[in-house]
Amino acid sequence: MLPVIALVGRPNVGKSTLFNRLTRTRDALVADFPGLTRDRKYGQAKIDEDEFIVIDTGGITGDEEGLDAVMAGQSLLAIDEADAVLFMVDARVGMMVADQAIAEHLRKQEKKVFLVANKTDGIDADSACAEFYGLGLGEVYHIAAAHGKGVRQMIDTALDGF
Ligand code: GDP
Ligand code: MG
Repeated sequence: MLPVIALVGRPNVGKSTLFNRLTRTRDALVADFPGLTRDRKYGQAKIDEDEFIVIDTGGITGDEEGLDAVMAGQSLLAIDEADAVLFMVDARVGMMVADQAIAEHLRKQEKKVFLVANKTDGIDADSACAEFYGLGLGEVYHIAAAHGKGVRQMIDTALDGF
């Protein structure tokens, strides 16, 4: 059985961009508008010798009331199915209320969770990402999914032990 990694987070943080990079397909549509990936999408990924399954999700908008509603549907299922969760946030936009709701849910799970701040290309990543330590999920991994920056190192860490 290959390890399963789920990509979760608000719409537009770059989940599908990372999915495409990991699976080297254009299967997960990337768009400038949120919510395009409506269903969970599975792909097989390979980095060096490491093979794993990655699940793309449509994201959690945070418009819903209540944590259960916020974490509704496919994202919850993807988390259940996963061995490790990559919780993606947008380093350019900064912390949003929905990020806090997602973090609260993930802190209660007995899952390996990796907090991944995307879009750190061309900005001061350390200062942009500092506030995300407040989510209480430990280390913040800086990446730029669109450029591959930091991706290998972050995945190596996430796959450690599988
Ligand atoms: P999703 O809704 O979480 O799946 O996000 P997408 O992968 O569709 O990306 C949303 C937008 O963010 C697109 O315009 C991407 O080109 C852009 N984006 C994704 N990754 C990066 C990145 O590393 N740097 C920058 N600057 N933009 C990115
Ligand atoms: Mg998407």
